[in-house]
Amino acid sequence: MFEKESLKGVRERSIDFVLARRALVRAYNRGELTKDEICDAHPDLIRAASNLGVEQDSECPICAEGKVVNVYYAFGPKLPAHGRCLENRSGEVERYLLSDLEVKVYEVEVCLYCHFNHLIRILAPFVLEVESA
Ligand SMILES: [Zn+2]
Repeated sequence: MFEKESLKGVRERSIDFVLARRALVRAYNRGELTKDEICDAHPDLIRAASNLGVEQDSECPICAEGKVVNVYYAFGPKLPAHGRCLENRSGEVERYLLSDLEVKVYEVEVCLYCHFNHLIRILAPFVLEVESA
């Protein structure tokens, strides 16, 4: 295992779920999924989204009532099993990613009107270079 001090150039990398989201919306538009099936955000997620959600430019693809917000949850060995909701405005997401190589941050899109929710990205620290001793 690397010591944190020996790492330089730690950046975030991400796994993108844009294609999965597009397929989901397409299936909904074709009538293969009902609104109940995809607008099922848990009350805790709705609460986090109203308090800490970061408003996006895009409208909700399901109800088009308003803009979606993104919520960030950190998961890692030293964090609660259900994750910790982060406040992205203060740079908390980046701070978490740089603090521990085991941390992953899940970015979830939520609509506060119809409760549509979808995983957008998983962010994880990415080591560019390790200093030689
Ligand atoms: Zn909506």
